[in-house]
Amino acid sequence: MSRCPKVTVDIKKLRTNAKTINNLCVLNDITFAGVVKGCNGIPKCAEILAEEGAEYIASSRLSQLKKIRKCGIYTPMMLIRIPMISEAEETVKWTDISLNSEMEVIRAINAEAEKQNKIHSVILMVDLGDLREGFWEDEKLLNAVKEIEFDLANVYLAGVGTNLGCYGAISATEEKMQQLVSKAKIVEEVIGRKLDYVSGGGTTSIPRIIEKDMPKEVNMLRIGEAVLLGRDLKDIFPKEYGKIHNDVFKLHLEVIEIKDKPTYPVGEIICDGFGLHNTYEDRGIRKRALLAAGKIDYGFPEMLIPTDKGVSVVGASSDHTIVDIEDSEAEIAIGDILTFELSYANLVYATSSEDVEIEIIV
Ligand SMILES: *Cc1c(COP(=O)(O)O)cnc(C)c1O
Repeated sequence: MSRCPKVTVDIKKLRTNAKTINNLCVLNDITFAGVVKGCNGIPKCAEILAEEGAEYIASSRLSQLKKIRKCGIYTPMMLIRIPMISEAEETVKWTDISLNSEMEVIRAINAEAEKQNKIHSVILMVDLGDLREGFWEDEKLLNAVKEIEFDLANVYLAGVGTNLGCYGAISATEEKMQQLVSKAKIVEEVIGRKLDYVSGGGTTSIPRIIEKDMPKEVNMLRIGEAVLLGRDLKDIFPKEYGKIHNDVFKLHLEVIEIKDKPTYPVGEIICDGFGLHNTYEDRGIRKRALLAAGKIDYGFPEMLIPTDKGVSVVGASSDHTIVDIEDSEAEIAIGDILTFELSYANLVYATSSEDVEIEIIV
């Protein structure tokens, strides 16, 4: 048993999720790009996604893709954050395709690809209102398209794509997907050929498939959450495609103190260590446990889901978590380990924290 805090990864469950999502994509003629940024690009997870049919391994961070490739995984790598111009060389070296929105960067990639004797593929991003990355005006998009297609010998225009549901929290409606398709059509007109990919977003675009109103031209999705965690679509995902487990990843924390204490702080209340004003409910004296990990390790305490239904998270500081164990199902003692299921945000932090061990369970 490795030390705590740790995250366990249930490989069987991850494989089931990957099979299900791949099945969904295959049956709808969609290329599945498996996004691993949610678990800090754990190479074993990337391997499972690739084995179950992901045609690309994708991450927003080049460092993760590099780590995965160095582990001997040769599935094509996709960089899904616009490359920094300063990482043009490494982008060409470690990835096969990247999402882009700036000609300056694409020209730098072209120069690097020439040096490395490679052809690097790009998907041009269009912003449909979520207001993160992507071209806003058609004219600028088409200028970029022409330059890539006709002037840059070492960059291949593989497609157009969009991202929704991030900054602007914009829903991937049928209308947004149709807008993306019409962008693809004007691009295809300019270059006189079909694009390989119309890349319609991530997990938040899956409802279009489920509700059967995804335009047939959208032929790639870049999916992370649905395969790693599957909480976003929990209530709507159809069983016919297979099962999705929500507990591939679990967080395990060790108990360092157990005491009966008041639930309402004693003294004059100011703000906590992070400058936040918290509210406290007075529930009298209750038994609680202190766990050896905190916000640094998982981000948001209120999003942790204790597997013991009688345990509740009361609060946390940087390095400590306080849980109410008055009504716990199990008898809890010093040195015991409490287990939590995670939200996406918890998963991102926990798998990135230096102090949290990763244990692969095969
Ligand atoms: C994170 C990300 C995805 C994957 O999103 P999920 O919600 O995890 O499926 C897809 N595309 C881009 C550009 C992203 O940044």
